[in-house]
Amino acid sequence: MSLHQREADRLTFAERLVGKLYPRFGVNKRREAVRLLFEISRRESIPPESVLPSPPPSSFPALKDFLLRRRFPLGSARGVPLRPYLPRLELPEDDVRSLPPFEFSPKKILVEAAAASSSLAAACRERFPRADREEIASLKQYLAGRPPAGAAGYNRRGETLFIIAEQWDFFKPCPCTPGAVRCGYRVCNLGFGCLYECEYCFLPGYVNTPGIILPANIDRFLDRFSAARSRPGRRPLRLGTGEFTDSLHLDGLTGYSLPLVEFFREREDVTFEFKTKSDRIENLLRIEPRGKVVAAWSINPGRVADSVEHYAAPASRRLAAAARAAAAGYRIAFHLDPVIFYPGWEKEYGETVEQIFSAVAPERIAWISLGTLRCPPALKKVIERRFPGNSILDGELAVGFDGKLRYPEFIRLQIYRFLIDRILARRRDLPLYLCMESRAIWDELRLPFPF
Ligand code: SF4
Repeated sequence: MSLHQREADRLTFAERLVGKLYPRFGVNKRREAVRLLFEISRRESIPPESVLPSPPPSSFPALKDFLLRRRFPLGSARGVPLRPYLPRLELPEDDVRSLPPFEFSPKKILVEAAAASSSLAAACRERFPRADREEIASLKQYLAGRPPAGAAGYNRRGETLFIIAEQWDFFKPCPCTPGAVRCGYRVCNLGFGCLYECEYCFLPGYVNTPGIILPANIDRFLDRFSAARSRPGRRPLRLGTGEFTDSLHLDGLTGYSLPLVEFFREREDVTFEFKTKSDRIENLLRIEPRGKVVAAWSINPGRVADSVEHYAAPASRRLAAAARAAAAGYRIAFHLDPVIFYPGWEKEYGETVEQIFSAVAPERIAWISLGTLRCPPALKKVIERRFPGNSILDGELAVGFDGKLRYPEFIRLQIYRFLIDRILARRRDLPLYLCMESRAIWDELRLPFPF
């Protein structure tokens, strides 16, 4: 039986049970009861009918109280006020992301007229000779009037490649999250859309373009960047790619890393970072970074990476790539983000920290960031529809300080304390920061701001 069928059956059983035991519930009470029964049943690997005691709670408040305690056992035991997010549960089969062996082979390449003679367009023509090619006036015009891609369209994004002449969206402050301590990061967008399939990724809830977008005019980005930074006395900044796409996954095709390293290794006012889950560092190794540029890996324990970060390089290969980049003169950073809380997390994350320091000497590490699993509420439905049977949503995620679903503060603190202790034991002054975290958590940890 497919995972989708198993979860769809679970939902049907939960709906039938609520209908039979509580026939007078209105739409909202039914929705909450069904969802909680479903989530508990999945989390505990038991059928929905085994969740309720005998006799079952007789009123909605008693039922909801019972179900919330069972669904959020750690938070309930601590008396943590809960703001669960319990939207209607739907599991359409069309939205399921199947995971065939990875191959990026677009069937269609749409090239903006202004990018038609670019070297990227030529490289794509050579790499994908069988793809249909079409010249378009502009991406904006092409998309006007078309329906948003939706989940099923997002699942097929690897079939279409847009090559564009980007005009505006190169360089901006990291949007971070409301109410968080910002680290001052700037992001530059060298593409939009990622071919990896991390189950927690926000892009499926965000992207409306039915394909992968690559700008052909990186030289324009470098010119604009120089112009924007031309006034003397500008404060130093940290700048990186990797917000809307992996920094290096397609570097063999785009070759972006070569001009970027060449440009940023000369600048005293900028620390430039590539952020990746790949091991595609061939281009990085062809150019001397002069100790300036940072190559960073997002890292999770091997088992988490294998089961949640589909198509990305296994954790061991990411670490091996980090070791090679360090040997080639790059400063290295790691992002332990998103940390996922599950039985046995301490052992596996502890091992991951050890593996980081076995791969890269502590003094070669520019910084490590930490962040726990979080997502906009709407993404919860996207994840469960795309990855039925996923386990990342089994955690005690509820609406947090910024309106996103997060673990409660006491779990986040437990995770951060553990990791910070392990990391600082290896190098006391290693720059550490929390990504998208509240002032309250920073203060509680007494973590000095490193930048
Ligand atoms: S903390 Fe994270 S999300 Fe916030 S500004 Fe820094 S990098 Fe961006």
